[in-house]
This record gives sequence, structure tokens and C-alpha cells, in this order.
Amino acid sequence: DFSPSLPTATPRSWLGVMGGGQLGRMFAQAAQSMGYQVAVLEPAQECPAGQVAQRLVNAAYEDAAGLDALAAQCVAVTTEFENVPADSLSRLAQSVFVAPGAHGVSVAQDRVAEKAFFVSCAGKSGVLPAPHKVIASFEDIDAIADDLLPGILKTVRMGYDGKGQVRVRTREEVREAFEGMGQVTCLLEKMLPLAYEVSVLTARGADGESVVYPIAENVHRDGILFTTTVPGPNVSADSARKAQDAARAIVAELGYVGVLCIEFFVLADGTLVVNEMAPRPHNSGHYTMDACVTSQFAQQVRAMAKLPLGDVRQHSPAVMLNILGDVWFDGEGDDATRVREPAWDRVVALPGACLHLYGKDDPRPGRKMGHITFVAPSLEEAQRQLAAACGILG
Ligand code: ADP
Ligand code: MG
Repeated sequence: DFSPSLPTATPRSWLGVMGGGQLGRMFAQAAQSMGYQVAVLEPAQECPAGQVAQRLVNAAYEDAAGLDALAAQCVAVTTEFENVPADSLSRLAQSVFVAPGAHGVSVAQDRVAEKAFFVSCAGKSGVLPAPHKVIASFEDIDAIADDLLPGILKTVRMGYDGKGQVRVRTREEVREAFEGMGQVTCLLEKMLPLAYEVSVLTARGADGESVVYPIAENVHRDGILFTTTVPGPNVSADSARKAQDAARAIVAELGYVGVLCIEFFVLADGTLVVNEMAPRPHNSGHYTMDACVTSQFAQQVRAMAKLPLGDVRQHSPAVMLNILGDVWFDGEGDDATRVREPAWDRVVALPGACLHLYGKDDPRPGRKMGHITFVAPSLEEAQRQLAAACGILG
């Protein structure tokens, strides 16, 4: 353990991050702006975070020598990649402060453990996950209760952005989907009638103090986040309060330190359902970079450096639009052809536009290349600029 400190001592302190994607890049930029040096551990040689970090440790996530090099350099280590092996975090934790720790990350990595955890703290959080059943064999499929269908079959591990999910209507379709996924353990979830989706970003410090950001309303397309709007046009004061209270209870119950984002569904009758959690800054929290006093990345720096958590106040209504590789292409699937460089000059000319590109030079359909947040004096104005940006990007 180390005492709370800003990196004013010589030599300047290093913060470490497991993973070299865009979340690691934006974390590194926030840490650097507070005076830290940043080391990234990532197997790929060319990566968004590696372009900005002072040091890139090129190693597999479970490589002992790489982990030990990161631990030796840093006063604290965090993760940007949800599927970092929990054992690697435990190894790091033997010699350096690690936030979030192996426990919280391992629960969030595994849909079965995650659902069981949500059920176990429902008394305190006041929310339940969707009805579900673990599918590990064909016998499990025979035993599915009728009212779990239609549903969604999700792989227990490694799913993200709608990948590793199949919508199923009948037992026969569950069998086909289970075979199609190579018979890995899956979770069958009842398909719920969603009115809208929200997420709540929280951060908890090593001292147990926590903060909760304003609730965000999310729209997905093809399983990938499309826009985040804050304040959410559909969100009632009642569901906002319930979701924020639930988030506070969940982060405390998990004994978690760092930034955690929890996704919820709101059903037509107003029922709040907890979906999943990400043990790191989250795509739906990118709006905080331009619209809140403390961005989610600066908050992660504070939590891991044992500094007081920052002010979560939102100073402007905001709409965030993800920029996927699709905007470089015409056509779909194998027929997609790269035809243009998006007209960034016209996009950044829009009032309130804050453009963030992740330094990836090979756009592909479905790949997250960057995001734009529009901030404005009113939500309507931010939404108008968003519509204009969509028109420009096509
Ligand atoms: P991922 O890890 O890919 O984000 P999610 O569980 O969040 O996986 O599912 C992705 C999206 O699929 C959700 O944001 C939601 O739109 C839809 N979805 C997931 N589960 C359900 C469900 N039980 N009922 C209805 N829609 C769902
Ligand atoms: Mg999700």
C-alpha cells in the first residue's frame, strides 16, 4: 500500500493500465494531464494507448515477466480491458495497489457469477436481473421453463457489443444456437419488452466513499452502443433515483474500488432490471469528458491514486455519438468497400462538437474508431447538432 499523493515527488509516479485500447488511451491522457507517467501492458505492438503512454510493456496479459515489470514501475495499476485474467490482477496485487481488484473483475467477466451477484444483493439494491437459466448441456435445454422463451442465448464469457448472443424463439432454436457456439456454457435470458436502456456510472474510493454520475440513456444499434443522451429524454425522476440507489448499493456490496458502470433496462411498466456491469470506464460514460467536472477517466486516476474522488456534476446537456468504422464504407458485410474519409472539418464546425478519435488507422465496419460529444445550453440544441453530424457522416 502507498499513501495518497499527487505525482509531485521526484521521480514522478507511474500509473499502470492493463490493456491498450481506446479506454486505456483516454485513461493515459487523463493521468498525464494530472502529472503522472503511464505504463501500458498490451500484447499488440501498435495500439491506441501505446501511442500516448510513456511506456508500452509488450506482453501477453498473463505473462509473468510483463506483469512483474509493470508492478515494479508503478504505484498503482488499473485495467481497461474487461477480460484481463483475474489471476494476473492477483499477481500484480502482491506488490502494487490494484483497482479494481481481481474479485470485482472476475464477477463482471462471467455472466453466471454476475447474475448470481445481482440476485444476492437484490435486497439492498432493489433490482433484479432478467429471468435466466444456465445452459451447459442439451439436458439443460430440455429443462427450460416455457416462459423463458423467446429469449437471448449469451455466452457466459467474452461477450461484448452484442457478440456471442443469439436470439431464440423455441427450444429447437436454443439447441441450434448452443451447437453453433460450440457448446460453451451459455446463459439463456428471457427477452424483455424494453422501453429504454440506461446506465449508471459510479466510482468508489479505497476509503469506501462513492460517487454516482447522472443517469445516461443509451440507444444501441446491432448490439453496439449508438448514442448516449444525458439527461435521458425518457428517464423519469423516479427511475433515475432507483437506478442511482441501486448502483450505489451494488458498488458497495462488491467491495469495489474504481470506476464501475452498471447497465439497466427499463420496461414498459417502469420496472427497472439490472443487466450487466463493466469494471472500468464505459463507452456510455464518454460524455463525462466534455460535460462533467470530472471525467470518468480522471475519476479512475483519482480512485487508484487514493485521491479524493472528483465532482461528478454535469455542467452541460450532452449527446454522445459513437463513430464506427462503417462511416468509411459503403455497402455491408463482405461487399463493404472503403470509399471515403469522413468530413471531419464539417463535423468539428458544428457548435458544441467535441471530437475524439482513437488513433486507429484501419477502419472496419463495427469497429469503434472514435466518438463525438455535443454539448449545448439545451438538450434540444445538442440533439440538433447530433442530427446534423449524422447527416454529414451518412
Ligand atoms: P453486451 O455484453 O454485448 O453489451 P448485453 O447483455 O448488454 O451484452 O446485450 C446487448 C444488448 O442486447 C442490450 O443492450 C439490449 O439492447 C439487448 N438485450 C440484452 N439482453 C436482453 C433481454 N434480456 N431482453 C431484451 N433485450 C436484451
Ligand atoms: Mg451491454
